[in-house]
Amino acid sequence: HDEQAAAKAAAIDADNGAPTIFDKIISKEIPSTIVYEDDKVLAFKDVNPQAPVHVLVIPKFRDGLTQLGKAEQRHGEILGQLLYASRIVAEKEGILEGFRVVINSGPSACQSVYHLHLHVLGGRQMQWPPG
Ligand code: 5GP
Repeated sequence: HDEQAAAKAAAIDADNGAPTIFDKIISKEIPSTIVYEDDKVLAFKDVNPQAPVHVLVIPKFRDGLTQLGKAEQRHGEILGQLLYASRIVAEKEGILEGFRVVINSGPSACQSVYHLHLHVLGGRQMQWPPG
C-alpha cells in the first residue's frame, strides 16, 4: 500500500545520499524538544508520541546508517553510544525502572525516516509482543 511504497522510495533516496527530516532537527532548523545531546548523539521527543515518554535517539552523522540493516563493523562504536544514550534518556525521563528501546529497520518494519533512530518508550505498561 501507499505507506509501504513511500517508505521504499524514502529508503532508496536516503541510500543515494538524500537528507531526511532529521538533518533539519540536528541543525535545529526544525525545532524539537531535546532530552540529551553530545558531540555524536542527539535525543529529542517524538512529535507523535506512542507512550507518555517517547524519545528518538539518533547519530548526528548518518554515515551510511539509513537503517540498522545497513550497519557495518565500523558502526559498532556509534551503535554502542546510541544504546548507552538511550539509558541516559530513560534516567532523565524517570523511566529507568522499565522502558523499551525499539529500532524499526526497513519498510516492512514500518520505518518511515531513513536516518537510524532508536525509539525509547515508557511511562506506561508496555505490551508484548509488539504489532
Ligand atoms: P520510524 O517510523 O521511522 O521508526 O520512526 C520515525 C519517527 O519520527 C516517528 O515516530 C515520527 O513520529 C517521528 N518524526 C517524524 N518527523 C518528525 C519531526 O519532524 N519531529 C519529531 N520530533 N519527530 C518526528
